[in-house]
Amino acid sequence: MKSETRLIIVILALVTVINYGNAQTNAAIASKNGVISSREKVEMLFPGGKTKALILSFDDGMVADRRLVRLMNEYGLIGTFHLNSNKLGTKDYLTKEEIKVVYKGHEVSAHTANHPNLPDISREEVLYEVGEDRRELERLSGNLVRGMAYPFGNYNDSVIEIINGLGIEYARTVKDTYSFGIPNEFLKWHPTIHQFGKAYFTPDNPENDKKELAGFYQVVNHFLKTDSLALLDVWGHSWENDGAGDRWTEMEKFFKMVSRNPEIYYTTQIGLVDYINAFKNLKFSVDKSFVTNLSSINVFIKMKGEAFNIEPGSTRLLD
Ligand SMILES: [Zn+2]
Repeated sequence: MKSETRLIIVILALVTVINYGNAQTNAAIASKNGVISSREKVEMLFPGGKTKALILSFDDGMVADRRLVRLMNEYGLIGTFHLNSNKLGTKDYLTKEEIKVVYKGHEVSAHTANHPNLPDISREEVLYEVGEDRRELERLSGNLVRGMAYPFGNYNDSVIEIINGLGIEYARTVKDTYSFGIPNEFLKWHPTIHQFGKAYFTPDNPENDKKELAGFYQVVNHFLKTDSLALLDVWGHSWENDGAGDRWTEMEKFFKMVSRNPEIYYTTQIGLVDYINAFKNLKFSVDKSFVTNLSSINVFIKMKGEAFNIEPGSTRLLD
């Protein structure tokens, strides 16, 4: 027998053995589980099998962020901070040097370099505003910047196309939903509610402030009580707290209500994006009897009323 022929036979034999081995493993997995309907509903749970998630995001990076972040740190809360890099170091804004220190443990995210109304400027300017902000904030924070908040909450299709091309993976609007749904369009990420609702939006209107504040706490309490999968996503600005009323006290009251709660998954906005993407990228067998998690994140799911933890890079049976 020629040596090449012998080699081919050896390879064929090896392939057969390997395939036989795989078939046995698959058969073992299938028979152990019996037949599970592929219509079995798979629900996402948050890390740790939790059903509540909290996102706090604040825009502009003005000096009041120092006090706000200190307060958040006191209550063990994490936030996402959308910053305008060209404004840093100017009056009432943080300096570039303190970005790394002030936001340690929090997410630094883009808000454009100069805070223009994006639908009003040219495509080239949008490219500059978002690309430059990303670049400079990455340099200052030492971390990747993969998200943003639209200045004034404004965007259009052209803006979305450009920021997508710049590697921006989520963009928060200012359109409050007053609900706890999980966003499915990350570049049109509508938050739950502005800090204290629309209290203080109109000056010298204590009646309205009272009504809006009550509405805000009602939303927070509803979130704390619900059993459904819920995301509370509160946005605002630290500098608002320096305005009329006793807003710093209100802020602390709110932080106290939501802090150190074992039922809540505390996350940055990009943290939740990564988690949702890892969940969406789970690979299920046709009969949903086993699943593979290709990501580097622990993913928790609910199936047949039971919670499963799918460890990173692993395949597990769902029985
Ligand atoms: Zn802003």
